[in-house]
Amino acid sequence: MRFEIVTIFPEFFSGIFAHGIVRRALAEGLVSVGVHDLRGFTHDRHRTVDDRPFGGGEGMVLKPEPLAEALASLGIGPKSMRDANRDQGSGIRDQKATADPSTTPSAAADFAENDSGSRAPGFVSGHNFSCAESAEKELGALAPEPTRVILLSAQGCPFSQPLARELAALERVALICGRYEGVDERINELYCDMELSIGDYVLSGGELAAAVVVDAVMRLVPGVLGNKASAEFESFGAPDAEIEAGEAGVPRSQHGAGGLLDYPHYTRPAEFAGLRVPEALVNGDHQEIRRWRREQQLRKTLRNRPDLLERAALSQDDRELLEGLRRQRR
Ligand code: SAH
Repeated sequence: MRFEIVTIFPEFFSGIFAHGIVRRALAEGLVSVGVHDLRGFTHDRHRTVDDRPFGGGEGMVLKPEPLAEALASLGIGPKSMRDANRDQGSGIRDQKATADPSTTPSAAADFAENDSGSRAPGFVSGHNFSCAESAEKELGALAPEPTRVILLSAQGCPFSQPLARELAALERVALICGRYEGVDERINELYCDMELSIGDYVLSGGELAAAVVVDAVMRLVPGVLGNKASAEFESFGAPDAEIEAGEAGVPRSQHGAGGLLDYPHYTRPAEFAGLRVPEALVNGDHQEIRRWRREQQLRKTLRNRPDLLERAALSQDDRELLEGLRRQRR
């Protein structure tokens, strides 16, 4: 899988992908990232990327022309063109071969190359997918297309683990980082498959948001996490039905995060600052461990994210436990 990041601050990304799982995924070629300096696509002496807003008001706006050129250099045309190409059956296929950022004037960095990514992506070009909770359902039915173009925006659909899973199945994702008051809306209209927000707050630029998306998506690309179960049994993990049965007796998180938050984790020492590790975790009784973890998940979700309980897959036991927890709180 490949990410293309378009930004006016390419240096921002020089250290951010140099650690842990992300660094390893890049080094192993499972994923690659191209960072493209928007100023490389300007033609004036001052390398101007912004201009004053029509209608007046605060701040500056990122101009459309350099962004359109940057996307063109990556083989990404307007959505209408992508649609037309697909309809003709030629498939634009995004000219992957010409998309090597090290040959573009703007290249600031290219993190690992990988030409082997040809897994079937989950959704189609030119389709502005909605923020519907069932993004997966909506996207799953659509024909494959190799590149999704995403505009990072505080006005976007909320980024979520299901969406991260969708993106992880794609061949290439282009991320446009806004600055100032944002990006000329025509770029969104003409090129972007979706606007994505990482939360209900305003950042000074899309770079941090892009890094968040890359991190969350990359760890879900097959092979990146050493242990496949890690991504299934964590907060916002896969629903039970999607999880393969574990070895008998192995105490799994909670049989599918199933939409709940993860349970608390402990490691040695067994006693720290006067606090002992919960008894249920040290006696080796797998049944009890599982029960304790499930209760903790319910407890934490009720306390921190009660909204998630409405959509979580709950058993009769869960419901009874929850009722008990609610009574305790009253
Ligand atoms: N005027 C805009 C904010 C612009 S902030 C508004 O009120 O919505 C400048 C840039 O930061 C945006 O163009 C976007 O790319 C990025 N950004 C800010 N908040 C973000 C968020 N919550 N998620 C993703 N990107 C964000």
